[in-house]
Amino acid sequence: MSLLPRKISWKTFTLWLACLGVGLTFVSGVVQWVGIDSARDLSKVGFDRLSLYHGTLHSALEKHRYLPFVLSRDEEIRELLSTKDGRGGLILSVNRSLNATNQKAESDVLYVLNSEGTTLAASNWSEERSFVGHNYAFRPYYKDAIEGKEVGFFAVGATTGVPGFFMSHAVVNEADVSGVIVAKVDLRPLQQQWRDGGEHVIVTDQNGVIFLSSRDKWRYRTVSPISETSMAKIRTNRQFAGAGLAPLELKKLTIFGQDVFEIDGERFLVLTRDAGKPGWSMHFLIPFKFIREKQQTSLLIGMVLLVLFLMGGLFIRERRQKLRSAQRAREADRFQAINEMLQIEIDERKRTEEELLKTQADLVQTGKLAALGQMSTAIAHEINQPMAAIRTFTASARLLLGKGKPEQVGQSLEEISFLTERMAKITGELKTFARKAPVEYQMVDLREALGRAITLMQTVCEQDGVIVELRDLGDSVPVRGDIVRLEQVFVNLIRNAADAMHDYNEKRILVTLRNINDHVIILFEDSGTGIEPGIIAQLFDPFFTTKDVGKGVGLGLSISYGIVKDFGGNIRAENLDDGGARFVVEFPCATSLKHQRLKYTV
Ligand code: ADP
Repeated sequence: MSLLPRKISWKTFTLWLACLGVGLTFVSGVVQWVGIDSARDLSKVGFDRLSLYHGTLHSALEKHRYLPFVLSRDEEIRELLSTKDGRGGLILSVNRSLNATNQKAESDVLYVLNSEGTTLAASNWSEERSFVGHNYAFRPYYKDAIEGKEVGFFAVGATTGVPGFFMSHAVVNEADVSGVIVAKVDLRPLQQQWRDGGEHVIVTDQNGVIFLSSRDKWRYRTVSPISETSMAKIRTNRQFAGAGLAPLELKKLTIFGQDVFEIDGERFLVLTRDAGKPGWSMHFLIPFKFIREKQQTSLLIGMVLLVLFLMGGLFIRERRQKLRSAQRAREADRFQAINEMLQIEIDERKRTEEELLKTQADLVQTGKLAALGQMSTAIAHEINQPMAAIRTFTASARLLLGKGKPEQVGQSLEEISFLTERMAKITGELKTFARKAPVEYQMVDLREALGRAITLMQTVCEQDGVIVELRDLGDSVPVRGDIVRLEQVFVNLIRNAADAMHDYNEKRILVTLRNINDHVIILFEDSGTGIEPGIIAQLFDPFFTTKDVGKGVGLGLSISYGIVKDFGGNIRAENLDDGGARFVVEFPCATSLKHQRLKYTV
């Protein structure tokens, strides 16, 4: 059972399916291309934003880099670091000076450590969480400054808990380091700026720890697990206070040729660059959903267009089918009209044909009647001669009776009887010719008719010394006709052939039966006089004869012609090359009996 509606063929269904497949492939290709293109566009934009944020971070750090160096040259501070006594007034003065400078420079805290790392003075000296008195020897910025390095260090404040970037510079007094000046910069306002911009920026250090992040929950998490050694170092210098530094649920992927971070199941297109300090990296993260949204929009548009396209196709198909069926209906109407016209014409032709046949029959009849007139001379001759002879024989019989010779009267009577028989024969033939007998069709085996004709003629032929040879070259040959009338045709042809060989020594009639392409052909070939070429066309005319008066009336071939034509056949005469004549009789085979083998032997 077909799953399709009867109207749609499997071929059309497959075509539609292929169109749908091609359409879907095209749409998915477009969606993919939109993904790649928008990822590329976003990464370009992201890179510009990343450069901007990098610039702000860089300027935030560089802005205060000079402070520790400048303060290390301050005479009061140098004195504070070198003087052992009477520091009370000096410390207050330095504290105030540091506070003033801090406010002016907009840094977070400025403070002075002695050579042991203990804070002697600080800008926040008056605050609750003042650095003064605290030792920061454990901080790398102290150690770096002692060693003459200016690296900088990000850490969560050990005293205040406020994260910031620490920059330091050593104060050198006659080749000895007498102390360290430290400037702390608060980077939280920067983070706030990023957050306010609604963008995702993170900065990681050399251990992969996110120490600056626009999203709070990522801060002090890591992008990759930290080694034990690094962890121990972080704990020693108390860089991130007590933060756990647990790794983020992060997967690094490559989608549309771009780096993608999947953090806690949320995807971001990520652009990375170094952040200006050794090991630092700044990452700008763009939510991947922007790309997905664009893709979804293009998918929606694509699907709508595809549906419209398919619907358009269906509509056109439907319309075409309607037009086609309308055209078919018009054509059917036209054919109907033509058929009707043809039918009228056929009827008319039938009528004309019937009229023609009738006219033809009338003409034949008229022709026959006209011929009757023509033949009257011949008949008069044929009949008058025996009648004159009868009269003579009757007179002589009367005389002989008068003379008392009854035995000779019997002979005369015999002659009279023979002559009346001959007259009866002539009139009989005339009757057959003149009668317009209806044709009766039956299925007849032609060989049977032929065999019977040969048998009938056997005695006559034997008397005349004529040999009839039958060559049967085919299967049974059924034709539509009447066996007695067919027999009459064959008898006539054999008799004519025998007559034509009367004065010849070799008297041989060859009858050949052939079955060719649904036609049966019977050839009657004799070794007689042959036919004069000039009279071949007249042979089948009624009363045409070349025989002596009393021997032929010229009706045999004419009657035979009529019979053969009645049964749909044909008859013609021709001369043989070696002398003698050939009569060719042809009939169409009756197809209904074509394959039925009828057995007959002569
Ligand atoms: P008829 O035999 O009474 O003359 P047909 O119509 O049978 O009438 O024949 C017409 C004429 O055709 C014959 O007179 C004869 O001249 C010619 N004819 C017929 N058969 C042969 C034949 N086998 N060979 C030569 N002439 C023939």
